[in-house]
Amino acid sequence: MEFEEALAAVNAGEGAHRELRDDDYWRQIPGFGKVDRAEFETHLFQQRASVTSVAQLREVLGDLAGESFYADLAEGIRNAPMSLRISPHLLSLIDWNEPVTDPIRSQFLPLRSCQQPDHPMLRLDSLAERKDSPVPGLTHRYPDKALFLPVDTCPVYCRFCTRSYAVGADTERVGEKAKLHANLARWEEAFAYISAHPGLEDVVISGGDSYNLRPDHLELIGRRLLSIPHVRRIRYATKGLCVLPQKILSDQRWTDALTRVVEEARRLHKTAVVHTHFNSAQEIVGVTRRAMNLLVERGITVRCQTVLQRGVNDTPESMQLLVKRLGFINIQPYYVYFHDMVPGVEDLRTSLREGLEVEKRVRGVTAGFHTPAFVVDTMGGGGKRDAHSYEYYDRENGVAVFTSPAVKPGQQFLYFDPLASLDPEVRRRWLTDGEPQQVVNEALRQADLDVRDPAGCLSHATPAPRFS
Ligand SMILES: *Cc1c(COP(=O)(O)O)cnc(C)c1O
Ligand code: SF4
Repeated sequence: MEFEEALAAVNAGEGAHRELRDDDYWRQIPGFGKVDRAEFETHLFQQRASVTSVAQLREVLGDLAGESFYADLAEGIRNAPMSLRISPHLLSLIDWNEPVTDPIRSQFLPLRSCQQPDHPMLRLDSLAERKDSPVPGLTHRYPDKALFLPVDTCPVYCRFCTRSYAVGADTERVGEKAKLHANLARWEEAFAYISAHPGLEDVVISGGDSYNLRPDHLELIGRRLLSIPHVRRIRYATKGLCVLPQKILSDQRWTDALTRVVEEARRLHKTAVVHTHFNSAQEIVGVTRRAMNLLVERGITVRCQTVLQRGVNDTPESMQLLVKRLGFINIQPYYVYFHDMVPGVEDLRTSLREGLEVEKRVRGVTAGFHTPAFVVDTMGGGGKRDAHSYEYYDRENGVAVFTSPAVKPGQQFLYFDPLASLDPEVRRRWLTDGEPQQVVNEALRQADLDVRDPAGCLSHATPAPRFS
């Protein structure tokens, strides 16, 4: 019976992933009511009309949101590690009848009423990227691949950015951020480091966001990296396809520069691809598909890295729909990350237990090569681990212990479930002075591994700025 029920559910939902919204969805927004399709679908309009303050939002939305919403948002921003920036495209895809529970609102517009106290173990730069950086903006953690951050801005700012220590404008919460501006001299240092390390075969070009690289810079970086004999693979990381797909279609110089790098890679028998970032099926509409169609025609491979988030994609149905819709427009779902332990976004995190349940229900709905791996990017720099591969998981206290023998042999790495997912008594314990260390020590003892540096994740410790 269970099989039949499951089959019936799939059949009932069949086709939903192919139904992409293609109406004038922006016209519901008073400020965009008179904007025609030709104008709305240009990157220039999208950039010019991006919203970066509550005052601007009020101008654009007017009565679509109430006074209490604007007040809640203003308070939320004061407590947020990331500054505000959202494109007209995304803003218009929010369901303004139900903004509080909307998955796009949740990701880009912080509401004070939804924020929760931080877990005592979380950290700014929880992945310790700066600890593994031989050159500012180059993280060399894994033996054969490196992460290059040529730029520190993005077309929009996600509330939950892992790199809130560097990305976007300074905020009250974080204070002055590390700066990784586009800078040719800094890039040369990164190229020199990569050239001098023949083990490096794979470079991720991220940021910030590759979308914010000028076309000539995008091409320069791509060609320089591909010209290094031992570099076999490069990927441009950009959230652009999700937040501003119009640019692929209207910024011909940028798309052509990307195409030339991909063609150069092909000529050298190497690969250059794009990695993007969608979190809910609601983010994929007609214009997204048209942008993808152009990239497909140019032979450009696109993969997706999703972040698992409460209220956005933490049900099996919402994740299945996202995975199927990505596949439908030729984007390959690659990873689903458990939410990193960064400040100010506890309301978005899920427990390991809940995420593994979603994984179980997603695997099997489509081709294996379109099935994302669910991974935990461990605190303190252990790297990405298959979420199922924990050495020990204390569900009651919400502590998981991982090891990473190929990256940091002999160390243990921890992941913590959000306090809201724990029993009130356990939650109180986490918030009592001295207790967190006890809980962690117990978990490490239980994991009972031969470990030389227990809890590598605790040693780097840039304490997260606390909630006021
Ligand atoms: C994620 C990441 C990479 C790339 O890892 P893949 O598993 O190949 O996607 C490389 N370097 C760093 C520091 C990373 O965080
Ligand atoms: S686009 Fe990526 S780098 Fe930029 S704010 Fe969002 S998550 Fe951070």
